[in-house]
Amino acid sequence: MILVKTRSALSEQLQLTGNEVEVGFVPTMGALHRGHLTLVARAVAENPVVVVSIFVNPNQFNDPDDLKRYPRNLEADLKLLEGTGCHMVFAPEAEEIYPGPDNRKFNFGKLETVMEGKHRPGHFNGVAQVVSKLFDIVQPRRAYFGLKDFQQLAIINAMVKQLSLPVEIVACDIVREESGLAMSSRNELLSPEDRKEAALINQTLNRAAELAGEKTVKEIENWVTETINNSPALTVEYFEVVDNESLQRIGNWSEEGEKTGCIAVYCGKIRLIDNVRF
Ligand code: AMP
Repeated sequence: MILVKTRSALSEQLQLTGNEVEVGFVPTMGALHRGHLTLVARAVAENPVVVVSIFVNPNQFNDPDDLKRYPRNLEADLKLLEGTGCHMVFAPEAEEIYPGPDNRKFNFGKLETVMEGKHRPGHFNGVAQVVSKLFDIVQPRRAYFGLKDFQQLAIINAMVKQLSLPVEIVACDIVREESGLAMSSRNELLSPEDRKEAALINQTLNRAAELAGEKTVKEIENWVTETINNSPALTVEYFEVVDNESLQRIGNWSEEGEKTGCIAVYCGKIRLIDNVRF
């Protein structure tokens, strides 16, 4: 496994493997956990060459404190990646990705005006900026993203379409801790008590999926919000049942199309997201 820190070093390494070789790509912000490693394992199984990027992208953080406290540990990340079969780790400094300001404005229409887009202004523009740049550098045939970031996947798919990029976006299932809590780099920032308490998020979502036949959409949305807010450690920012394609809130279970319940919850200062299929 090779660690490279510059675009030119990465391009050089990729050229050595040959231009026709299909590259699988896993973009991450580091502080790796089993969720990330599952994406890497799938990429390794499906591509002859796999690149993992580790870059905490400043442009996607709307909250400066969140950026400051975001966990970083390149050494531990490299150790975790050693055994995976990943070939190259690209860990650039911010100047390497943004030699000057990136003023590009993407337009994802209604996909970005709801949920994460609504509560984290500018977040998805920053995500699109970095992922489009990384795609340009890595030139992957396939790129792997987790369904934990449900709305992000929709945004990336839209971006790939808009820019006509020759990359297949592969969606990977959510990997969970034993308690059911969705794995996240931010979980490291939770106290042991909060981490236990945060398992209520997934438990409640699972129960909500079971109750969907008995309650209206509105009732489910209220029930989930109230149940989680009942924990003194947790505060729901939003919970919405949305259509998988449009990401717009549904009114009735009878509406056509697949549906997902998406949630953001504050556990103290730490913001967690999760979702469940209905
Ligand atoms: P991040 O480092 O948080 O930006 O995540 C990098 C990639 O890993 C994104 O595509 C995430 O959706 C994915 N990912 C993060 N946590 C999980 C998880 N628990 N299960 C599956 N994928 C995940």
